[in-house]
Amino acid sequence: MVSGTSISKEGRPQVLPVVESGLSPRLSFTASSKGKPPAHLADFDMAERKEKMKEAGFPAFRADQLSRHYFERHETDPEALTDIPAAQREEIASIFFPPLLTKVRDLVADGGQTVKSVWRLFDGALIETVLMGYKDRTTLCISSQSGCGMACPFCATGQGGLTRNLSAAEIVEQVRLSMVAAENGELAGEPRRVSNIVFMGMGEPLSNWLRVKRALHALIEPSPHGFGLSARNITVSTVGMLPNIKKLADEGFPVTLALSLHAPDDELRDPLIPLNARFKVDALLDAARAYFEQTGRRVSIEYALIKDMNDHEWRARLLAEKLNARGRGWAHVNPIPLNPTPGSIWTASSRKAQQRFVDTLMAAGIPTSLRDTRGSDIEGACGQLAATTQENSHGAKTARQAAQALDQAVS
Ligand code: SAH
Repeated sequence: MVSGTSISKEGRPQVLPVVESGLSPRLSFTASSKGKPPAHLADFDMAERKEKMKEAGFPAFRADQLSRHYFERHETDPEALTDIPAAQREEIASIFFPPLLTKVRDLVADGGQTVKSVWRLFDGALIETVLMGYKDRTTLCISSQSGCGMACPFCATGQGGLTRNLSAAEIVEQVRLSMVAAENGELAGEPRRVSNIVFMGMGEPLSNWLRVKRALHALIEPSPHGFGLSARNITVSTVGMLPNIKKLADEGFPVTLALSLHAPDDELRDPLIPLNARFKVDALLDAARAYFEQTGRRVSIEYALIKDMNDHEWRARLLAEKLNARGRGWAHVNPIPLNPTPGSIWTASSRKAQQRFVDTLMAAGIPTSLRDTRGSDIEGACGQLAATTQENSHGAKTARQAAQALDQAVS
């Protein structure tokens, strides 16, 4: 039995029992072709679900019923499919609801208001979600890939490398299972409804665009197509996959775009973000501005404040200049003090430097709010998700090497 360490209200670590997902393994018709996750209801749109249902020898309208169980009641247990003939429940559930995610462990922080969960996928790959309760909302941070191929040296996920893209249903299942957990009072015993989703867990969502697009449809469209979450409460965060920023806008959902900028100049962003070799700061800001024009959604500029690296006052001024050059009121900046990652030689900016950075932007008319760092004591905060197991525990060494290389590059 695996257990996790959590931080109690008094700040003392405590060991939590493992929380199994309750998903019983079921045989599936649609055994996965090698390397691919089993197909699942949430991989398909309604027309495809009906087609699959007919192929399996059931009337098409069962697809509608099954979708309502899934998206309205968050239910996949065959016993609960009471409007489907008892003799068919097992078979239908086995085709459409193969178990995709198994809970490995939960880590709890912030007085029970933050829960990081580690999940194992059908092939052993690991991902993480972070559920956060606030006064006015409940936010779920989800993963779009197992690991990440972007190799940003300050980010723990980037240091572990990419394991693989998630299927649409593997993304959607993170949401359903977390909705169930929240409804069952997993956050400090209070039943809650997940209201906000951020694609800020493991992975680069816009490099798994087709699956993320499908998942967005399932999150946003109303039942029986999807959960009917408000697009405005969904944030897709990208390190700067420029061509797909346009595709996200073209999809027509008013989701919030977050751009992980971290530096206003290519001189620093080149070594800080490997993808900047292809997509430069000015081109990304142009794309972000175009995103705002097309969707009407204010873009969020993410900026991890790294001591003596990117936290200079002149960089705050340059950032403000570049944003203002593209119009007023279209972006807000979210600086976040760097979260520590294993082996990294960098630290967060001093409080004074953080405040100076924020004040400089505000004085230039840029709405700016310092982001909180929920879950940092359970490695559940931004840039700390690495699903630490023996399988990828070499991450610390590579993080240190990358950080040293970057230090040389910018000094
Ligand atoms: N790949 C996407 C989605 C990940 S979101 C993206 O880069 O936007 C995770 C957010 O946390 C990103 O803004 C990322 O740049 C930021 N981040 C990464 N490492 C961090 C760290 N050590 N401290 C604070 N933020 C970090």
